[in-house]
Amino acid sequence: MLAQNFDAILFDAGGIFLLPDPTVLGPLLAYHGGDPSISVHVRAHYAGMAAKSAAGSTEGFWHEYNEAYVRSAGVPDEEVALAALVLERTRNAYTWRWPIPESLIALAGLRAMGMPMGVVSNASGQIAEVLARSGVCQEGDGPHTPMRVIVDSHVVGVAKPDPHIFDFALEHFEGIDRSRIAYVGDSVTMDIGGARAAGLHPILLDPYDDHAGADFQRVRSLEDLLT
Ligand SMILES: [Mg+2]
Repeated sequence: MLAQNFDAILFDAGGIFLLPDPTVLGPLLAYHGGDPSISVHVRAHYAGMAAKSAAGSTEGFWHEYNEAYVRSAGVPDEEVALAALVLERTRNAYTWRWPIPESLIALAGLRAMGMPMGVVSNASGQIAEVLARSGVCQEGDGPHTPMRVIVDSHVVGVAKPDPHIFDFALEHFEGIDRSRIAYVGDSVTMDIGGARAAGLHPILLDPYDDHAGADFQRVRSLEDLLT
């Protein structure tokens, strides 16, 4: 079992637990000729992230993501520029709220193992609240999966790929060697790069094999941690 290689696991939130809500973005982009189905929009997120990573874009730059997302959702060429603009204007921190079903299953399994876990997210001050509202997790005991800490970049004033952001989580995992702590994210630039620089073991969630041949570990689903 992959999870047995680690004594703790830290997670990104966007793209790992939560996606930009496909039940909002589906109808939004259908106006521009896109396919509104949920599976198409789930795939579009990772296509967007692959394009964002290929461009080396950090948190503030979503141009490549937006264009790749709308193309992947089936928006025709002549509508891509406008649909990408509409996506940019509509998607906001609070629309990252749709919980990924496989991830919830995996969290339940990791919790049952007693795996120490935490979240480190580039966010806008909202991520802990949305994770709880969406039924994913909370800091400490509660109705969902307990996390030792949920770090929000807006709150701590440091964002990935700056490895210093992980220090705000790692103080809750004292005594565990960094090389035995996995960090699971969906951005090569921010998550793989940041976790590597922090001395953690980076893992990319790559459900559609967009990063074949990469020199870092990949999983197709968080459920792979349990197999
Ligand atoms: Mg992410």
